[in-house]
Amino acid sequence: MDKIKMINPIAELDGDEMTRVIWKWIKEILIEPFVDLKTEYYDLSLVNREKTKDAVTSEAAAAIERLGVGVKCATITPNAQRVEEYSLSKMWKSPNGTIRAALDGTVFRAPVMVSGISPLVPSWTSPIVVARHAYGDVYKDVESLCPQGSNAELAITSAEGEEKRIPIMSFAKSGGVVLGMHNLDSSIRSFAKSCFNYALSEKKDLWFSSKDTISAVYDHRFKDIFAEEFEANYKDAFEKAGITYFYTLIDDAVARVIRSKGGFIWACKNYDGDVMSDMLATAFGSLAMMTSVLVSPSGKYEFEAAHGTVTRHYYKYLAGEETSTNPIATIFAWTGAFKKRGEMDGAPQLVRFGELLEKASIDVIEEGYMTGDLKAIFRKEGVTPVALNTKDFLLKIAEKLAAAI
Ligand code: NAP
Ligand code: MG
Repeated sequence: MDKIKMINPIAELDGDEMTRVIWKWIKEILIEPFVDLKTEYYDLSLVNREKTKDAVTSEAAAAIERLGVGVKCATITPNAQRVEEYSLSKMWKSPNGTIRAALDGTVFRAPVMVSGISPLVPSWTSPIVVARHAYGDVYKDVESLCPQGSNAELAITSAEGEEKRIPIMSFAKSGGVVLGMHNLDSSIRSFAKSCFNYALSEKKDLWFSSKDTISAVYDHRFKDIFAEEFEANYKDAFEKAGITYFYTLIDDAVARVIRSKGGFIWACKNYDGDVMSDMLATAFGSLAMMTSVLVSPSGKYEFEAAHGTVTRHYYKYLAGEETSTNPIATIFAWTGAFKKRGEMDGAPQLVRFGELLEKASIDVIEEGYMTGDLKAIFRKEGVTPVALNTKDFLLKIAEKLAAAI
């Protein structure tokens, strides 16, 4: 059999711990036998980030910008314990944060659905993708306690030195708290563009929600910028693609999401997205089945699993024990990258490979072969789930894939 040829390379960002082990197996078992793999390889393991003084992370981000498509393995975000464990010269920043900032991108989280693992909301038959704005609001706020008798005001000084003061609260009767937060038009606009681009790329409706009735200037600014961008740059493309953009209040959105069938993208402000993406991940079944895509406003894509490096399993693996770590989200990071690469390069056989690998992975689970985490939640009539170790699970998928190709 001739291997599938790639035209342009994908930026490949390797990572840490158990996901690094699985990364190698996925390439050996599911990709390299079928595809003449072309990647630009960046080793984002903590060891190599330390060795390169984290330059490798910026180089990888630049490669995604240049090549248009990247795929990333989970990486360790250092904390005090990791600084000691890896004898780091510095507590290097989260690679995801660095790459997100470099690409000015938005993260979209999408669940992989299989029959047998039912969402907790029975009406959800298609995935709900959450897009979380990743800048500002309460994540970049300043806060203070206000003792009784104090007085809080908002002061804004213009470029010309003109000062505007807006009273917030007089804490005459009781002490209390105050916070100041902000966002930037440029960041909100990038967020909007990434959302519209991703909706077009996925051919799915886009919802955006905030609380503009109560927050008539702050949240309203988000609503206005989304509306402006849509009118100016995306309306025609949406019409052509047969999809819609829809704004509603956050509380109305929550009610509609629960009643919905799924199958749309839900853009959320930073805090809403933080909370809602965790709620949806749990409600759809498993973090190990959640994929994540970073989309830049200029339409560059980085695919990855939403979960981390699965440290506990890694130490079992190092001790020589078999592990049943779920590779699905990492496999789907690769298939997402192949489909996007193929689409950008006009290489339908690469798109087809991505689709066939996704189908083989889902079919194997639906036939009852899965990793231990899924066995615990799998319920399907007539199918008794069997838990395999990671490698045997990958081999099962490869067998199915080989038959389909
Ligand atoms: P985690 O790696 O996602 O794992 C948390 C737990 O969830 C695991 O111990 C495991 O539960 C379960 N789990 C997650 N993925 C699984 C999979 N594929 N298959 C089976 N079970 C899975 O999160 P963490 O332990 O909080 O973080 C570990 C490291 O990952 C940290 O250093 C963190 O900085 C990093 N991290 C990286 C990213 C990223 O690169 N995008 C994201 C999050 C965290 P059981 O142990 O009960 O089996
Ligand atoms: Mg959260």
